[in-house]
Amino acid sequence: MRELLLFNTLTRKKEVFIPIESGKVRMYCCGPTVYNYQHIGNLRTFFFEDILRRVLEINGYAVTHVLNITDVGHLISDEDEGDDKMELGAKRENKSVWEIAEYYTNVFKKDLERMHILPATHNPKATSYIHQQIAMVRCLEELGYTYVTGDGVYFDTSKFTGYGKLARLDIEGLEAGERVEFSVEKKNKTDFALWKFSPKDSQRQMEWESPWGKGFPGWHIECSAMSKALLGNNFDIHCGGVDHIPVHHTNEIAQSEACNREKFVNYWLHGEFLLETDGKMSKSKGEFLTLQYLMDKGFHPMHYRYFLMNTHYRKKLNFSFEALDGARTSFERLKNRILTLKDNEKERKVDNSNIEKYLSSFFSKINDDLNVTEALALLWEMLKDNALNPVEKIEIAFEMDKVFGFGLKDIEHEDEVLDVPDEVMQIAGQRMEAKNQQDYKKADDLRNQLSAMGWKVIDTKDGFKLEKL
Ligand code: AMP
Ligand code: ZN
Repeated sequence: MRELLLFNTLTRKKEVFIPIESGKVRMYCCGPTVYNYQHIGNLRTFFFEDILRRVLEINGYAVTHVLNITDVGHLISDEDEGDDKMELGAKRENKSVWEIAEYYTNVFKKDLERMHILPATHNPKATSYIHQQIAMVRCLEELGYTYVTGDGVYFDTSKFTGYGKLARLDIEGLEAGERVEFSVEKKNKTDFALWKFSPKDSQRQMEWESPWGKGFPGWHIECSAMSKALLGNNFDIHCGGVDHIPVHHTNEIAQSEACNREKFVNYWLHGEFLLETDGKMSKSKGEFLTLQYLMDKGFHPMHYRYFLMNTHYRKKLNFSFEALDGARTSFERLKNRILTLKDNEKERKVDNSNIEKYLSSFFSKINDDLNVTEALALLWEMLKDNALNPVEKIEIAFEMDKVFGFGLKDIEHEDEVLDVPDEVMQIAGQRMEAKNQQDYKKADDLRNQLSAMGWKVIDTKDGFKLEKL
């Protein structure tokens, strides 16, 4: 196997990846809380995990990939207070919690498919693993790590040596500085809920019996219990967004290592955030960007994938429609190159040393902590290299695309997006928006405007496409 370097948050260093079991990788990624749509920031994290998965696979590893679905217990605040996001979502939409969980899970899976994010081996739902979560809380109780308050069972973080090592938390500083902020019943600021009791004055839609009373699991325990059930006590890789480092992943480590008395995860990888012009993209702001919104504006999910490829996963990335436009242009150019090469793919001799040269350079980039940005630049360099014939170029491009995931093999002429003027694209996007808002009169007017400009708009399952009249 080739050497693969990954940046481990635990050590803050790039490390040579060595799997627990030769040739195999067990990896757990924290999934969505299905109370609302995932925004394009969330999708950046799942995209980064997809690149990781593809890089592992092209290196010859068989990957068992778990991506969980949080359908209970994620509270509004990281302090174990406030409402359950799922119950709030159900109230907002006047539906049952189970209905909104199902709806948003389906939309999420559809978005992953549109983004060419490979489906995980397992998508466990927190509500299907209640029994395992209760068993883990019992295990922690038996080992003396828990205490019970008026509202739940808590993990006593002062009992776990090395608490906060992932985030390098200054526990003493936290204790001294912020004592006033936390619930009086918590013994330490960093203690967190393992099991929450149902409120006495209102009925929850999701609640279960437990040895401590009727209630529901804390958010962190689901990942510890489900990863243990599906991947074992000690596994190779755990991922998520950077926001998970100080609380969620820190608490997963404490629970899992305290109960299993084994090292939990060998490599922790975290993706940086996608930012909006006014800061962090977040669902609590109300309005947020979804993949569907980009598609309604006339972008293809691959334009967004290409846009994400331009920045390393450990760097912050600012979203803008101008930058997405740029990605669209580059991606359409790439598609056209590939189509032209396919047309010219006559029988010609392949010089393996040409192919080897590019692929070995490609591996050195992707195996250096997933540097797809440089790998993409290499793809372009290769496509412009006059020393290669079309057959060689196609072969190299298709091999590289196993990591890029653009689906270059499947590109066909009828898919070709023409060089559509910005103004036409804008009007077509406005028409799609009008249609979505059921303003058919406006949609028709805009269609007529497009015809007058010489363009025909055709609805497709992913949005629309344009043809010259
Ligand atoms: P959630 O549904 O809020 O639990 O988030 C799902 C995933 O998206 C988690 O791994 C988060 O860390 C990640 N995430 C949340 N916001 C962003 C953002 N703005 N950019 C990138 N990843 C994010
Ligand atoms: Zn998790």
